[in-house]
Amino acid sequence: MKTRRLLLPVLVFMVAAAVGTRPELWRDEQVVSHVSTAVRAVALTIDDGPHYKTTPEVLAVLKEKGVRATFFVLGENVDRRPELLAREVADGHEIAVHGYHHISLTRQDKAAVAAELERAEQAIGRGTAVKPRLFRPPGGHYNAAVVAAARERGYTMVLWDVDPHDWARPPAEDVVKTVLRQATPGSIVLLHDGQYPLPTPRALAIIIDRLRAEGYELVTVSELLRLNERRPALGGF
Ligand SMILES: [Zn+2]
Repeated sequence: MKTRRLLLPVLVFMVAAAVGTRPELWRDEQVVSHVSTAVRAVALTIDDGPHYKTTPEVLAVLKEKGVRATFFVLGENVDRRPELLAREVADGHEIAVHGYHHISLTRQDKAAVAAELERAEQAIGRGTAVKPRLFRPPGGHYNAAVVAAARERGYTMVLWDVDPHDWARPPAEDVVKTVLRQATPGSIVLLHDGQYPLPTPRALAIIIDRLRAEGYELVTVSELLRLNERRPALGGF
């Protein structure tokens, strides 16, 4: 009898502890939107592609400027345009996972999220030897199931702290202005190449020039993460 009387309070405590602590973990330790670093480095990230028209334009700008970016690709678009993924890899860019479909994963259970990741990995793996280690859920939406599924497959989840809403097709000048206003050392810039037309390729060329003029180095997300690890005293992400 004594054991039974104890069981309920213990269960209530365990549930309360789990609910109380997990959101902190998601925000502070498992999802990166900015890297703490004193180095003037910024990562450009490009989501939703490859797209047959916009991606070649983006790749041309990056090649001309000698910049490597991180592409968060969609598996279904990789299956449509595997040659563009191969070009991203050949040009030295980092390939990361955005999912297979552009769906909100918070409506899926953990097994469904894992299946999305696996399908995206298979699409990427068909034409390249890339084993992506970074994951950004569509829309940046996530919950405990998304975090757990990504973690079990070895992913670091990456969001952003600079968002010029280029997908809504504002003038290129506005995209440039927002990025320059929001960027700080360790920033992760969110851009897109999944539709056409977009102001992004034109804005990208100016963003690169202006950030460099301000002393910034443009790096991949993995390179940015390593800047944090070398300087743990400056704070974790
Ligand atoms: Zn997206």
